[in-house]
Amino acid sequence: MSNNPPLLTQQEIYKLFKEKYSQYSPDFELMIKACQVEKLNRLVREKNAVILKHNYMSWDLQCDEVLGIRGDSLELSRKATETKADIILFLGVKFMAETAKVLNPKKTVLIPSLKAGCSLAASITGADVRKLKQMFPGVPVVAYVNTDADTKSEVDVCCASGNASKVVKWAMKKWKTNKVIFLPDKFLAQNVARTMGADIFFPDMNRVGVGSHAYPKPRPNTPLFIGWEGKCEVHEKFTPQDVDDLRHDFPGVYIMAHPECPPAVVEKVDFAGSTGEMIKNVTSPDVQDRQVAFFTECAMVEILAAQHKNVLQVCSIQKRCPHMAQSNLETVLEALEKMQYEITVPEALRKKAELPIRRMIAIK
Ligand code: SF4
Repeated sequence: MSNNPPLLTQQEIYKLFKEKYSQYSPDFELMIKACQVEKLNRLVREKNAVILKHNYMSWDLQCDEVLGIRGDSLELSRKATETKADIILFLGVKFMAETAKVLNPKKTVLIPSLKAGCSLAASITGADVRKLKQMFPGVPVVAYVNTDADTKSEVDVCCASGNASKVVKWAMKKWKTNKVIFLPDKFLAQNVARTMGADIFFPDMNRVGVGSHAYPKPRPNTPLFIGWEGKCEVHEKFTPQDVDDLRHDFPGVYIMAHPECPPAVVEKVDFAGSTGEMIKNVTSPDVQDRQVAFFTECAMVEILAAQHKNVLQVCSIQKRCPHMAQSNLETVLEALEKMQYEITVPEALRKKAELPIRRMIAIK
């Protein structure tokens, strides 16, 4: 006999949707969504699948009523190593599903849309990393997890926004150096470098060759980051003026920002942290009953606003990630029904990409 708890009925899901999310969809749509979620949950059970739901999915995908595990990139990478399911259906973007495949070569990993890319992952390739290593021999390479398997296969260790400074310190200690190549997110690199009191510079990739790149004159006892010019097309849109406007319109507001935002924004807010850290902080004593606003992807704010009365929904439509928005209940259902789209990673590449990801997961 199975130990699984009984699945929610369509009526139960509809009732919960009506209580929590009626501000986002009219009643008839809530009914349709409830019917789709009930069907999806049944398929998950029948096929012994697990759904990994990124916090940037629309509310009807990341909600508690959809069976699965919700989290940010780091949390979901960790969960991907623990699952006993035969199928992983990744509700996120391609690099995330690829990471799950690298960690679970024997499992079937599905993503509802192959168009779900990422501007950061697209900004760099494995060949670029090989060039950087040629230019800066002996310097460890830390790559944000928002990279393709091809890029990951060339780096020493991956990091997420929540453990980036810990990973950099680990790499500097292991390689006995105070320099690090940190890629591909320019703003994350600048924000992490600032918290570590490090200097940062961005090399000219047209000047390839060992020694062709003089480091800027190093300051004594000061770590040095060698960065890359990638940007998240969502977080780069926030400006310091947005912070000022929000404080003007909502006096006393507590503002949190993701470190993929420009440093001039991060410096002005009350708290900067990974998606998971920001979510935890909503209930911290610092925030208490103050109104809270987020400078991050809108969908996450939607679900938080439904859970916490003090969360402001001030996000504009431009802050929706177009890649995350590729998945919806229809494409997700179709993915499990038709077993599409399967993520594959060539074995040689997978083996090389696995070590930097496992190192990231091990660094708490
Ligand atoms: S929000 Fe930014 S970093 Fe995240 S998937 Fe979209 S483009 Fe990439």
